[in-house]
Amino acid sequence: MNCEEVHQNFDAFIGDRLSVNDTDEFIRHVSSCRDCYDELEVYYMIQAVTGELKEDLESYDLVHLLSDKLAERRRYVRRRQRMHFVFALLAALLLIAAVYALLYFFK
Ligand SMILES: [Zn+2]
Repeated sequence: MNCEEVHQNFDAFIGDRLSVNDTDEFIRHVSSCRDCYDELEVYYMIQAVTGELKEDLESYDLVHLLSDKLAERRRYVRRRQRMHFVFALLAALLLIAAVYALLYFFK
């Protein structure tokens, strides 16, 4: 994801509407691109101040608002990636079991 794509996805990221892969790419980009991070931070603060965020803001610690959001979305991406890995592993095991069963019954 380049800078322009990141800017176009500010709203989708904040509203948790990006796919897992896009969320991952978005976070990787803003973590390594200071310009995009700063612009996202300003955008996010404006959303918070104008009440556009759906999150229930318990504190108005605006400095940590974005870093908390990024950490939460990072955990979400890791959870989903782990889940995909486990499903792929289970599918592979089922396939192996099916092949063994076929070989056992038809030998
Ligand atoms: Zn950038």
